[in-house]
Amino acid sequence: MPEKLPKTETSVPALIQGVGLSFGLGLGHAFWHHIGQTSSFKKETTTNKEKNRLNKAFLSLQKEIDTLFSDAADQLPNESHQILEIYRHLAADKGWKRRLFMEIEKGLLAEDAIQNILSQFKAIYEPDPFWKTRFHDLEDLSARLHKHLMQKSPKVLPLDAPQPLVVIAKSLGVADFLEYHNKNLKGVILTETNESSHMIILARSLGIPVVEGDENTLKKIAHNHPLLVDGEAGQIHIRSLENLIQIFNEKTNNRTVISSFKSRKYKNLTTQDGVKIDLYINANLTEDLVGLDHSIIKGVGLYRTEIAFMKRDNAPSVETQTNLYRQVLDAAGEKPVLFRTLDIGGDKIIPQFQSINQPHKTKNIQNWRAIRLTLDRPMIMRQQLRALIKARTSSKFPEHPLYLMIPMLAEPSEFIATRQLVELELSREKRIGHPIPIDVKVGAMIEIPALVHQLGSLAPLVDFLAIGSNDLFQFFYAIDRDHLQTFHRYDVLSPAFLMFLKHIQEQAELYNIPLSLCGEMASHPLEAMALLGLGLRKLSVSPGSIEPIKKMVSSLNLKSFNPYLMAICQQMVTPTTLTEMRFGASTSLRQKLKNYAIDHGVI
Ligand code: PEP
Ligand code: MG
Repeated sequence: MPEKLPKTETSVPALIQGVGLSFGLGLGHAFWHHIGQTSSFKKETTTNKEKNRLNKAFLSLQKEIDTLFSDAADQLPNESHQILEIYRHLAADKGWKRRLFMEIEKGLLAEDAIQNILSQFKAIYEPDPFWKTRFHDLEDLSARLHKHLMQKSPKVLPLDAPQPLVVIAKSLGVADFLEYHNKNLKGVILTETNESSHMIILARSLGIPVVEGDENTLKKIAHNHPLLVDGEAGQIHIRSLENLIQIFNEKTNNRTVISSFKSRKYKNLTTQDGVKIDLYINANLTEDLVGLDHSIIKGVGLYRTEIAFMKRDNAPSVETQTNLYRQVLDAAGEKPVLFRTLDIGGDKIIPQFQSINQPHKTKNIQNWRAIRLTLDRPMIMRQQLRALIKARTSSKFPEHPLYLMIPMLAEPSEFIATRQLVELELSREKRIGHPIPIDVKVGAMIEIPALVHQLGSLAPLVDFLAIGSNDLFQFFYAIDRDHLQTFHRYDVLSPAFLMFLKHIQEQAELYNIPLSLCGEMASHPLEAMALLGLGLRKLSVSPGSIEPIKKMVSSLNLKSFNPYLMAICQQMVTPTTLTEMRFGASTSLRQKLKNYAIDHGVI
């Protein structure tokens, strides 16, 4: 029997070309998401009554967010947990609550207070594309808070919602997205968003395709109509279900064929002009190691050991640590894993070491962290080293080297002290008759500018170098990496920072030390393109970025890009060039690099 389609306007094309924001292929039925605000009505009330209602609504909102997130957390990689945390904090934000109370004190009902504050934030945030996406999170939470006030169920889906779902929305907040995800979500189509929105980051982690399209065209799609969302091609197909299933199968088969063909054919990743690039992955948990299955991935360029500590309530014993590190090594097989020694302290509070981080019972000391803390408390470091040594010798490939990477070094002497701890642990194992690894390679992370000026002294001591660009950028520009307002004040793609990285690359080449970069920069195609232009050849990226980075590398011609990059980095800044720049008065080269990529077919 022919399928009866919902009435989508005849002027809607069978294919809408949009912009792909999250890869994947999803088939489902259109569901229009609307942010539901029910208008308030006048009633007998007092300021105190309104405050009480708001307090109660806040409590149920937090409970709801907690349940929603604990359901989603298991399916998300660790990197995405941070987003849930930011959101959770926003839902409990004292500043927001205070402003709402102030509005109530002016005589407003709680519902109207929410609306007023939202409008105030809208006026502040809407002009800026970055803050606009953060505003969507607040909009999402405000709608939920409003529903709790009205004591309505804040669920976004009606009982008769189509299954499976393709949600069409102007924008979508994290909580709404996760709620849809729990209800068989296959794809998302947005008309107004930003690549860096939290929701998009989560969609990428969960493999849900997201496409951005034109609002006027999308409006014509009827509720319930079958849709196919192709995040990779940035396309939305609107046809009968039968047709869509056929397209879905063709696309899936094609992609499997292409990827298996590629993985057989290419082991090395090279640029268009034949320069070999080594790609590694960053991993926080064993789940992230699936990225290693990719044939072009050389190994784990950064394993953040502290994350496993952060998930626990009590300090892991040497045995527990050994088991965990062995699991990681066995999952990696013959591919190397660079274990970054504990980077705790500062903002990375680990419950079991909380007292250590507050020696004077004052607030956390922001920069007493990583190697500074573990050299001051050497037993923590020694236990970790012991576990890493045991894990290597009891793993499936005990003949492979153990790689250690030391974070937050400011002075070569700190590296020497760490190496001494490694030697102490190796001799201890030998003394008690335990095996030791055939080779232990110890590398230094470059995260503090002071170390860059001492690379001549450091070079003879280290086996390799890794730039931690997240911290290096933070300390280079004196900003707070967790505070978006200062973080986005400057750009990693500025000549000052790029030339600083170039200097590090030249020093590593001069002293013949292998150099990689494992900060977030490497995971973004435009930034990674600049890094290759500077001469870096080893990048460690988050597993979700393998495909986009691979595409960028294969389509880049370094012979022509390198001189271009050097020329724009050395251009003098004048008042005229400044006015052309996108980042206000900053010297960002982002727009120029984007134009270069477009003009030269770099994907
Ligand atoms: C860095 O600082 O770039 C880095 C990789 O370390 P983390 O982000 O864990 O501080
Ligand atoms: Mg760091």
